[in-house]
Amino acid sequence: MSERLDLKAKLGLDVFKPALEPHIKIKQGMEKDLRLKPAIRACPAGLYSENDNGEVVLTIDGCLECGTCRLVCGTEILDWNYPPGGTGVQYRFG
Ligand code: SF4
Repeated sequence: MSERLDLKAKLGLDVFKPALEPHIKIKQGMEKDLRLKPAIRACPAGLYSENDNGEVVLTIDGCLECGTCRLVCGTEILDWNYPPGGTGVQYRFG
């Protein structure tokens, strides 16, 4: 009998190969823009956070390439691209 895995356990099975450059960047000067703040709650991998200066910061390791942040923040705020071939997420559970 197989054990049911919750979302966190399933995500823990994925493999991430980093690229030389981050494939998503917060555009320069936009770190405090209010349009960026929804990403903190919307990113399913929890990669956005706010620092003590009120700036939103992105830690790209673990990105699921789902595009949610691109949708909620927009391309005026984010420079969003898929990572180069052979890098990024490799899903191991569906
Ligand atoms: S693409 Fe998805 S997982 Fe990656 S940073 Fe944006 S919301 Fe988070």
